[in-house]
Amino acid sequence: MPSPLPRLIPHSQKSVIVIASGLLILLIVASLFIIYHRRQPVVHDINSTELRALGENGRVASLKVEDETLIVTGQDGTISQAIVTNAATQNEIIGVFVKNNLPVEFSSLKPSAFSTAMTWMIPFLTFAVLGFVIWRVYAHVGGGRGGDFNLVDANGKQSVGFMDVAGVDEAKAELAETIEFLKDPEKFGRLGGRAPRGILLSGPPGTGKTLLARAAANEAGAPFLSVSGSSFQEKFAGMGAARVRRLFTEARRLSPCVIFIDEIDALGRQRGRGNDSASADQDQTLNQLLVEMDGFDQHSGMVIIASTNRPDILDSALTRPGRFDREVAVNLADAHGREEILKVHARGLKLEEGLDLVWIARGTPGFSGADLANLLNEAAIAATRDGSEAIGRKHVEYARDKILMGAERQGFMMDEDERYATAVHEAGHVAVGLAVKNGDPIHKVSILPRGRALGVTQALPERDRLMKKREYLEDQIAMLLGGRAAEQLLLDTMTAGASNDIERAVEIARKMVAEFGMSPLGPIHLGKPEDPRSQALLDRVESATSDIINAQMKRALEVVDAERESIARLVEGLMDRDTLEADEIQICFGLKKSAQAA
Ligand code: ADP
Ligand code: ZN
Repeated sequence: MPSPLPRLIPHSQKSVIVIASGLLILLIVASLFIIYHRRQPVVHDINSTELRALGENGRVASLKVEDETLIVTGQDGTISQAIVTNAATQNEIIGVFVKNNLPVEFSSLKPSAFSTAMTWMIPFLTFAVLGFVIWRVYAHVGGGRGGDFNLVDANGKQSVGFMDVAGVDEAKAELAETIEFLKDPEKFGRLGGRAPRGILLSGPPGTGKTLLARAAANEAGAPFLSVSGSSFQEKFAGMGAARVRRLFTEARRLSPCVIFIDEIDALGRQRGRGNDSASADQDQTLNQLLVEMDGFDQHSGMVIIASTNRPDILDSALTRPGRFDREVAVNLADAHGREEILKVHARGLKLEEGLDLVWIARGTPGFSGADLANLLNEAAIAATRDGSEAIGRKHVEYARDKILMGAERQGFMMDEDERYATAVHEAGHVAVGLAVKNGDPIHKVSILPRGRALGVTQALPERDRLMKKREYLEDQIAMLLGGRAAEQLLLDTMTAGASNDIERAVEIARKMVAEFGMSPLGPIHLGKPEDPRSQALLDRVESATSDIINAQMKRALEVVDAERESIARLVEGLMDRDTLEADEIQICFGLKKSAQAA
């Protein structure tokens, strides 16, 4: 699953920090206030003679005597002060003021008890507050009881078992041994079995890796301690490693147990990539993980399962014996597997008589377990919304369109010109899609805006494609470029809407050259982006890529040119009804006779 932007400080700590910052600001204001009051505003220094003169002329609001300092506030607000060290002189001057009935106030320069206290307290309080903040933040990072790692107890209420994971039989079989081990680590050791310590579940998102790990823990009746790889990144320097230590301390306390690290690639990337402090910190975190794994006691009964969809970028030290030495691939399920997954998720749902899970499974190639769960959920919502008794085909169709093409954008109106341009663009995709021999059958075309797209052409494979031939990839590229070809030939313009098509086409072409060795450059492989590679090679890859793109663009233009009439019929249909199904599309292209004509 896509992880959100890393937060530097987790939410729960934010409120603490807000309160603490408030306190700090308050203290600073208080200190300033006190300092301000001890240093009076503009004060004129005068000598004793001038002071006496002021007392005599009488335009004085008050005289304040603070030990040797005599402060006069004039009627106009001016403040003057004189230092009079001689006690006799001072008495004499005060006498002048008293004689003229001017208020005289005696106060000691020694600060009041309160301000003394505050002067001492402020630095102390400031440190206390700072200390509190640091303590809270670090205590949290270090992992207090709960809140830090996600602990799911074996006997948790919504516990999942192997029953709830379908279509991944090989992975389940691989984990069976782990379950045996967790159930009785001692016995496992006696029989001479080598304890499985680390298992790496690799596969695309939503295929049930988390679910599998959780189910394995449950089957063994062991606690499940789960943590996300990315949560080690967002902390302060050095805290990632401390967090790893805490995780394992907690796990040792709970053992036998399962530690699950989701998206381990976030912390397990190749070390020593960058010189910045962030990657140095990450290296340190990863080192700590390696140290902890090496320190595993044979009898401790801890199993650490990690998931990733990028096993290729992991540091090779992670996959060494004794660490994550077992990699279990969790792949997208085939049609039969999808049917099994649908069965799991259809358990509590009411399906119409005619709704066959086999039919849904066949129409959803490439869907992950999460997609299938989502499909049934969306279908159930659609059925509830239109007041149906049970989920029917149309609800499933609707849900599939929503997942494949994005939700329809309500209230988004395209003007007629835009609709027409979109219809021509989509008709171009359809025309090329129908003309190529190795493409997937066209299922639907629509000019109702969905998600970010203005229109969509849906091509669904009839079966799961395990092998992608060069011809198939070329046809895909041609079809992606069909939209632009139609714009160019039939509208004599270009729209920015084709940018996503072009991006995808170029991506496929570049893979054909740089990964699949399907170009005149022969079997080359560029490997990982960080691997060294020469500019000359990169240039040749780019040039071979554009050769493929140009050849397929030429093909797309030829198809569009030859199919002008059929495209015009399709555009008309789209302008009329927004969405056309496979049958109607075939009729426009003369591949099938219309019902009336027959
Ligand atoms: P991953 O960890 O591979 O990204 P998850 O285990 O988080 O995938 O799967 C997300 C959800 O999708 C699960 O909670 C479950 O509802 C559903 N799901 C995924 N794979 C399967 C499966 N093989 N069988 C049943 N449900 C699945
Ligand atoms: Zn397009």
